[in-house]
Amino acid sequence: MNIYFDNNATTKVDSEVLEEMLPYYSKFYGNPSSVHDFGRKARFAVNKARSQVAKLLGIQPEELIFTSGGTESNNLAIKGYLFANPKAGRHIITSEIEHHAVLNPCKELKKQGYDLTVVSINKEGVVNPEEIRKAIRGDTALISIMYANNEVGSIQPISEIGNIAKEHNICFHVDAVQAVGKISFKTKEIKADLLSLSGHKINGPKGTGVLYIRKGIKVKSLQQGGHHERNIRPGTENVPGIVGLGKACEIAKKTLNEEVIYVSNLRNKLYLGIRERISDIKLNGCLEGILPNTLNISFAYIEGESLLLKLNKKGINCSTGSACTSGSLKASHVLRAMKVPSHMIQGSIRFSLGKYNKEEEIEYTLKILPGIVQQLREMSPLYEGIKEDGI
Ligand code: PLP
Repeated sequence: MNIYFDNNATTKVDSEVLEEMLPYYSKFYGNPSSVHDFGRKARFAVNKARSQVAKLLGIQPEELIFTSGGTESNNLAIKGYLFANPKAGRHIITSEIEHHAVLNPCKELKKQGYDLTVVSINKEGVVNPEEIRKAIRGDTALISIMYANNEVGSIQPISEIGNIAKEHNICFHVDAVQAVGKISFKTKEIKADLLSLSGHKINGPKGTGVLYIRKGIKVKSLQQGGHHERNIRPGTENVPGIVGLGKACEIAKKTLNEEVIYVSNLRNKLYLGIRERISDIKLNGCLEGILPNTLNISFAYIEGESLLLKLNKKGINCSTGSACTSGSLKASHVLRAMKVPSHMIQGSIRFSLGKYNKEEEIEYTLKILPGIVQQLREMSPLYEGIKEDGI
């Protein structure tokens, strides 16, 4: 078995997506800016993709620009908005559990003299909208909150936050990278002014993304170059990537509802099975308030990295959290913000499922996992001590 449980890190490209992309490398390889037939074909394909993305997000095609992914979309949203609207103020509000693609641009802006308020979250990994309201000042220019967290899957009360932003006439950016394709929503209903999406999280190609920019919102380009993407994102378009992203959005729109049911059934089976078979575990987040595909569990008395490696040897591929921080052995900023005790943070594993997972993979995992956890616990001096004390 070779089981992939790391879909929040990235996903397999859907075969229909790949099929749609390939001719744009080999046959229709024109530059969309060219006036000849090759260019026209490429331009047509980019426009078609624009409509496919717009339909999924419930926006107008002219309200989005293509980028290289979630990181670029977030940077462009945050810095691009502030630089284009200097009179809006120099204060930013964000949360503790944002992805580094939001936290780091905000920290960079702070070094440049902007003011930053990072609101805390509760034990379930959820922002309290009233904390956002309290943080608002006369010079607040931007609120940036993620729709759903990548590590624990906690879904944020995004419409409520959107309403607060609207009441105060403050621009609202939503990092929806983990929500798109997993939660059904309309961008207008959540009152987002700016919204980021990434292709590789929705069975599309890596290096593709979108920034939704609501009509009337000004964003300044972070690069200087040609006149592509309404002068906001210069550079020759990644036509095959954009075509793939468009197709991935079309598929997501069509299959979202049934996929959510399928994936959440598998995820629940995995969770209940783990709970039945293994003691001293903690679900990080609450099952009703997390993404349908995500399960972040702390196993007491063990090292998450050791568990990961042992699972990997048995063909089960999951992660200890964010793909960007795993490998660095730094304790997850998300679990720390959720006040998970540090010994439990160490033993945390994220299973993030996707549409290609099968029931037999869950059964296999439930057969393998308890033995590995027990084996690692037997090696832990802390666990031995607790056993001897009879606690
Ligand atoms: N935002 C969130 C919530 C993410 O999970 C990720 C990727 O893990 C990103 C942003 C960055 O997206 P990309 O990998 O497309 O740059």
